Amino acid sequence: MEWQTGLIELDKGIYAYIQPRGTWFIANAGLIVGRDFSIVIDSLTNEKMAMDFLSSIRKVTDKPIRFLINTHYHGDHTWTNHLFNAVTMAHVNTRRLIEEEMRINVMGLYEKLFPEIDFSGAKYTPQGLVFSESLILHAGDKTIEIKYIGYPAHTVGDVYVHIPDSRVVFTGDLLFAEPCTPFVLFGSVSGSIEALDRLASLNADIYVPGHGPVSYGRKALYRARDYLVYIRDEAWRYFKEGLSFNEAALRIDLMEFANWYDKERIVGNVARAYSEFSGEKPGTPLQNLNEVIIKMNEYRIAHIK
Ligand SMILES: [Zn+2]
Repeated sequence: MEWQTGLIELDKGIYAYIQPRGTWFIANAGLIVGRDFSIVIDSLTNEKMAMDFLSSIRKVTDKPIRFLINTHYHGDHTWTNHLFNAVTMAHVNTRRLIEEEMRINVMGLYEKLFPEIDFSGAKYTPQGLVFSESLILHAGDKTIEIKYIGYPAHTVGDVYVHIPDSRVVFTGDLLFAEPCTPFVLFGSVSGSIEALDRLASLNADIYVPGHGPVSYGRKALYRARDYLVYIRDEAWRYFKEGLSFNEAALRIDLMEFANWYDKERIVGNVARAYSEFSGEKPGTPLQNLNEVIIKMNEYRIAHIK
């Protein structure tokens, strides 16, 4: 499947930056050009990606980039913050999680797990400005609302960026657009479903997902929701039968979702569903996280065509 990539103007001064093919560590970003300055939504994994994004930006504006909003803590949305020379901002939990990752060097772990990914120039940069509920930025005639989703969903610190006048929403990884598989291991299955409902209720026509193609209309929200509901219900069946999370993930027939990218995420998604079924609060750090990651990698290797 192919879709439009690069810098895409959605409304005057509002751009999505879409990277093909939206798989592990290949995320989307955004640009808002105001009267006096620009705002970037999310940095990217490595220096090459960030430089390509910056050179695309320079083709449409010479306004200084004053603010950089991080939608959540994951490296594919934050690891090149330092290359944008802007005030970085995020939810308070996002900054806390970045500091935790720095302490235990999660980047080093990812370098081992994903030898095919280029991590050069990647660096942790905790945000300079944090908030717990919402922030409103005014850039010339544009009003930009940055809102915490309010509960664990993709992570425990997700924000979305809404420009009501343009009817555009940057969702971060609250939305993975088909054919990119949703991933909720670090958040919550139920919270992610609720978040998709919330996004669908906004006054908007265009949704820029964290991975995958721009969604004109709500179809991508409904497709991601269908996937999560299906996985949750199938996992519940096997949970009641006493199967382990990994046995359940192997048993679930992905049906119409079988051709989506990074389908091994089912292992992490089922593990998160199991945590919720066993009564743990959404977003609770998983005790068996290492095992989940190993099993997910086994699933990936077993399904390489
Ligand atoms: Zn993410």
